[in-house]
Amino acid sequence: MAVNIIDGKQLAEKIKADVRKQVDELAADGVKLKLAAVMVGEPPASMVYARSQAKHCENMGISYELVQLPADSNQIQIAQRIEQLNTDPDITGIMLHLPLPEGIDTPAVQYCINPFKDVEGVNPVNIGMVFYGEPIIAPCTALAAVETIRSTGMELRGTEAVVVGQSPVVGLPISVFLIQNFATVTACHIATVDLQAHTRKADLLIVAVGKAGLITADHVKPGAVIIDVGINRIKTTDADGNTVSKTVGDVDFDAVSKVASAITPVPGGVGPVTVAILLRNTVEAARKQLTATKKGK
Ligand code: NAP
Repeated sequence: MAVNIIDGKQLAEKIKADVRKQVDELAADGVKLKLAAVMVGEPPASMVYARSQAKHCENMGISYELVQLPADSNQIQIAQRIEQLNTDPDITGIMLHLPLPEGIDTPAVQYCINPFKDVEGVNPVNIGMVFYGEPIIAPCTALAAVETIRSTGMELRGTEAVVVGQSPVVGLPISVFLIQNFATVTACHIATVDLQAHTRKADLLIVAVGKAGLITADHVKPGAVIIDVGINRIKTTDADGNTVSKTVGDVDFDAVSKVASAITPVPGGVGPVTVAILLRNTVEAARKQLTATKKGK
């Protein structure tokens, strides 16, 4: 059976078309959306990401402001700037570019973002609400992985799922979403003794670690659905023998696509869906703020 290579770009386009419609509806009601992206220093990867984000927002009709702080900013200065954005009525969404400089406590900074403006869903309050099945704004990448699975039409109820990687903002909320959809979930992590013994039982395998080549064909049950969240830059050799950089996931795509029934490529899989979900969360955040204001919260 030919493998289904899940087209994340196509799914992202569908989500963005809906976002654009919702932004226009809100604009017709006089609600303008503005996303503030906080960056400390100028990490090169964040600068590239910020430029692409600005473009995505522009295409959606969402204003975008890059809020840059000096690289030597301390925890209190970053928190104070975020507090200004929290109380600025023109700002409807806030996100934080990572990594923050060494010595800054990232979760403590994320905790400063108003949960109703936290479009990445990384405030511990938002992550915590996922456990109750009532997120205000849910973590983007976890939502993107779940949307990607849904796009395959796979029935989650009763499915044997394995999630490799259990970070609080990616792997762990993915496991929780799957449990809430009545999948039977095994969580694998750095201390898992025999990873292959677990992954080979999975009808649905989600990998969110950040280690190229972690999952080989030997880890995969024939016919399984594979969602590769990992993003890694590796050095490889091109046809002319030159060393070049390449983006890959955690899964050995060529080998695993011969065994799996469906698989996400990297790039072009979960990544573009995450970008689209961030935009959808930006709309969701504005809607939640309106509802909260009406309720007088
Ligand atoms: P992270 O915070 O570094 O977490 C990685 C997780 O994998 C941790 O739970 C870690 O356990 C576990 N782990 C490490 N080595 C392992 C191994 N050999 N076997 C099993 N588990 C292992 O990273 P993250 O933020 O969750 O991101 C995970 C990956 O997703 C990264 O490659 C990141 O770039 C990518 N990502 C992709 C998107 C997207 O849109 N596609 C978005 C966000 C992140 P310990 O903590 O115990 O070491």
